[in-house]
Amino acid sequence: MNQSLPVHLNFAQKAKIGFEIHGKLPIKQLKRLSESLLSGEGDIEVDLKFERVGPVPYIHGHIKTDLQLKCQRCMQSMPYVVDVRFKLGLVQNEAQMEKLPDDAEPYLIETDNNHLPDMLEEELLLALPLVAMHEFDCSDFLQQQKSAQQNEVEVSEEKENPFSVLKDLL
Ligand SMILES: [Zn+2]
Repeated sequence: MNQSLPVHLNFAQKAKIGFEIHGKLPIKQLKRLSESLLSGEGDIEVDLKFERVGPVPYIHGHIKTDLQLKCQRCMQSMPYVVDVRFKLGLVQNEAQMEKLPDDAEPYLIETDNNHLPDMLEEELLLALPLVAMHEFDCSDFLQQQKSAQQNEVEVSEEKENPFSVLKDLL
């Protein structure tokens, strides 16, 4: 059951009544994330469950998406699969933050009018590598070095006698 996600939600109130939502959000709506991507095409798939345990409101989240990161070495596309789960404990001050259990990440809410894409974007940015880089040698420089070395090997195999090379030149 997919539905388009609302932009604004009262997180604490949703936790109080107990609320679940599944939906998609276009990557383009996440401005900061889009800036670090080669392509803003596609959606993020989101599952959220709001609940209150004792006095503490929580959001359990699951985000799935395929991103096109930009490799910081060769500046080419680097496909990256995101499948991240998180648990946010909603707090309004530092005292509440200190009482949160260790398995919950504090999320400060200062208003009733919470911005859902902002929250999802923060979690997504946390899930990305600090520096996106291909696992293989992808830079032009490295590639050129490698092919130069290969050429050298081929040349020396073909022309074993250096004098024959000289003859050719003369
Ligand atoms: Zn690369």
